[in-house]
Amino acid sequence: MSAAAGAAAGGTGAAAVPGVGRICVVTGGSRGIGFAVAADLSAAGHRVVLAARDPAALRSAAVALPGPVLAVPADLTRPDQVDALFARVEREWGPAEILVAAAGVGASAPLERTTDAIWEEQLAVNLTAPFRCLRRALPPMRAAGWGRIVVIASVAAKVGQPYVSAYTAAKHGVLGLVRSAAAELAGSGVTVNAVCPGYVDTPMTDATVAAIVARTGRTEEQARDALARMQPIGRLVRPDEVAAVVRLLVEQEALNGQGLTVDGGGVQS
Ligand code: NAP
Repeated sequence: MSAAAGAAAGGTGAAAVPGVGRICVVTGGSRGIGFAVAADLSAAGHRVVLAARDPAALRSAAVALPGPVLAVPADLTRPDQVDALFARVEREWGPAEILVAAAGVGASAPLERTTDAIWEEQLAVNLTAPFRCLRRALPPMRAAGWGRIVVIASVAAKVGQPYVSAYTAAKHGVLGLVRSAAAELAGSGVTVNAVCPGYVDTPMTDATVAAIVARTGRTEEQARDALARMQPIGRLVRPDEVAAVVRLLVEQEALNGQGLTVDGGGVQS
């Protein structure tokens, strides 16, 4: 379905089925984990808004979804574009009822080579943007007495590993935001949770593989295998496995303030 056709279909469709037809904003929905989450929510009968920067990638993602979809290009490091995203959703469909903050970027460098630019980009995309999206989405959720906010964090929200200090700081920060928001909103009908995956088979991990190949001279297969072995299950996590956990968090009111690790048993918390 095209984005425009999806927008046109959005006012009706599955909204009559209880618990279905919710308006979901999925940041980073053009590929990887965000796309898998969007596809899963769409297949479950929800109306899905995809937000990311690249309009062409958004269009390709939108046509692959089975239900009503709205594709909105936005650089979420820009406060005006965060506001414009939610304002457009409100105009076209109504306020967001489910927010899945999956947009993110990775970077690795030893501490001494972690530049201000790396540090600032990691915090801007992985911490400040989810905060601004949450803050903008929250008032109508509170007013309605129902809302779901899920942030895709990482096992890096829970443990430190070498060469990813800026990413790890941002992900620890966003889990702190989730926990504090959940405590503040408990009992309001709005839940706030995080999913904390290990290495997932997405374009971000493809980039990590390419960086390992460039730095170490290992083959692509060796680099991918090394990342697969970081999970005790000996493979990369699949994006649909992350999407299934997001759906659980959307459907279960009693889950609140959690950071659910999805890494095959490596990090126990
Ligand atoms: P990905 O394949 O690289 O996709 C990232 C998505 O975020 C894309 O849609 C990208 O679209 C969007 N994005 C990036 N910067 C943006 C910005 N400034 N404004 C708006 N959208 C932006 O990454 P992924 O692997 O699916 O990762 C998704 C999330 O899961 C990230 O938060 C990541 O940290 C987390 N995570 C990933 C893994 C993993 O192994 N892959 C593990 C744990 C956690 P544009 O570039 O077009 O904007």
